[in-house]
Amino acid sequence: MFSYIDPRYYIILAPALLLGMWAQWRVRSSFQDGMNRPARLSGAAAARLILDQGGLYDVPIEETPGELSDHFDPTTNTVRLSSAVYHTRSLSAVGIAAHEVGHALQHAQHYAPLVIRNFAVPAAAVGPNLAMILIIVGAMLRFPPMVSIGLVVFSGVVAFQLINLPVEFDASARAKRLLAELNVVDDDGVVVVRNVLSAAAWTYVAATLQTILTLVYLVLRFAGDSGRSRNN
Ligand SMILES: [Zn+2]
Repeated sequence: MFSYIDPRYYIILAPALLLGMWAQWRVRSSFQDGMNRPARLSGAAAARLILDQGGLYDVPIEETPGELSDHFDPTTNTVRLSSAVYHTRSLSAVGIAAHEVGHALQHAQHYAPLVIRNFAVPAAAVGPNLAMILIIVGAMLRFPPMVSIGLVVFSGVVAFQLINLPVEFDASARAKRLLAELNVVDDDGVVVVRNVLSAAAWTYVAATLQTILTLVYLVLRFAGDSGRSRNN
């Protein structure tokens, strides 16, 4: 595809790619650091405690394969924790488990950004490919309206990622507050949990920046360009 042969794409994307690599490295290192610091509960026990305190007795906690594969599934209203997080009594485990429970609480309270995010998930899944097809075919056919529609669709993907950021920040804020309130972690522990969760948040920021810069590239490359001859 065009992006693989155009060096400008990588030059524009470079800040986001570097930020993403740094965030991934920070996630790994802070997760490992927090795994070595003991907590009084396992991830699963902490998740159960917070869910029950919030009255969410009917939200199950399941073990799921993989590393850092933890998530909340709104379609089945289930918290899924990776094996390490599920079983380990560590600050990383309780921090990540509490973050996923934060999403369950958002879901139960119909937290607006989460409702919008869930509503937009199917569109966000096909959005990038649909946008690329419209832009590339529109440019090939020299048909500017089609390119414009593609850019609008891609802008929708950017909007989806932006609405996802407050969802993630809020889940982490809830996690830190509830772990402290329920005495799962002490003041020193909260600092370690904050490191783990803020590292994870940076990966979302990097992904969002990558999408924004891709839109910038697409606008520079294709907006108003479809009537002129292209250089490759
Ligand atoms: Zn999350």
